[in-house]
Amino acid sequence: MKCSKCGKTAVYHARYTGRYYCKKHFNEMVEKKFKETVKKYRLIEKGERIAVGVSGGKDSVVLMHLLAKLREKFPFELVAITIDEGIAGYRPPSVEIAKRNAKKLGIEHRIYSFKEYIGFTLDETVEIMGSFEKGERVGACSYCGVWRRWLLNYAAMDVGADKLAVGHNLDDEVQMFLMNILRGDIARLGRTGPYYEEIHPELVPRIKPLREIPEKEIVLYAVLNNIEVDLSECPYAVEAFRAEIRDWINEMEEKHPGTKYQILRSYDKLFPLIAKTYTKKTSELNRCKICGQPTTGEICKACQFRLQVEKKAREKGLTFRVE
Ligand code: SF4
Ligand code: ZN
Repeated sequence: MKCSKCGKTAVYHARYTGRYYCKKHFNEMVEKKFKETVKKYRLIEKGERIAVGVSGGKDSVVLMHLLAKLREKFPFELVAITIDEGIAGYRPPSVEIAKRNAKKLGIEHRIYSFKEYIGFTLDETVEIMGSFEKGERVGACSYCGVWRRWLLNYAAMDVGADKLAVGHNLDDEVQMFLMNILRGDIARLGRTGPYYEEIHPELVPRIKPLREIPEKEIVLYAVLNNIEVDLSECPYAVEAFRAEIRDWINEMEEKHPGTKYQILRSYDKLFPLIAKTYTKKTSELNRCKICGQPTTGEICKACQFRLQVEKKAREKGLTFRVE
């Protein structure tokens, strides 16, 4: 097949528009979607300091490359943050990939580990808390997600960032939207949508400049541009519900190309209403009594989890770092 623009050999067919792309025009198309998302919602202003969360996986690494490229024409500061959850066999290689990419792009890179800032690696947490099947603990992803969110915010504050860019792609956004609809958790949808809401001075706003780009295009962009990414899967990734939703959306997209974009558009239209109704404002948020980060209750979820793990470790007489 030939590129719809220049007639050269096509490397990609976007079924949702019917267009074919050669390498050059594919790159242009991806970069344009990224830039337009940034521009449309003013996600980045000139001179701002942007922290980018980089796990080493395809989305975050491609995001770092696109941000580095944008910075050539539109001056802003960029700093990369990697969270090391402490997952043996999985995280160490991806941390190295994040490091190498940041070095190649000349971007300052900082690593924040669960071990240092929470007190336990994720592996230790799972070991301390016991069996998920027996109901002794929640799923590993619950600790991981809550702590990562907390540590990313801590890290973004620590590096003095104005905003935190995360690598959510179109598929992630659509899955997240439908999952929350199916669970009836509408409030969660008001936290971050197409643009960011200033919620609290100590909650660094999150931006998602890749949310208009399908996962497939991110993978291909990395491959075509020789970007080193980690494609391995976390050993704890067993979220069956998300996988079901993903498969269902992919099936719909296959039958009706453009479905993902249609769902995203629905989210975009609903977002202002949801954010207005559900987003907590500064005046409604407290500071966590332990760590000081904003929370709706007295102690934030990250600190609650940490206290639970510390307690269990003490009960079991385990000597992890417990203060
Ligand atoms: Fe953490 Fe779960 Fe993601 Fe693994 S799959 S990195 S445990 S959230
Ligand atoms: Zn706290």
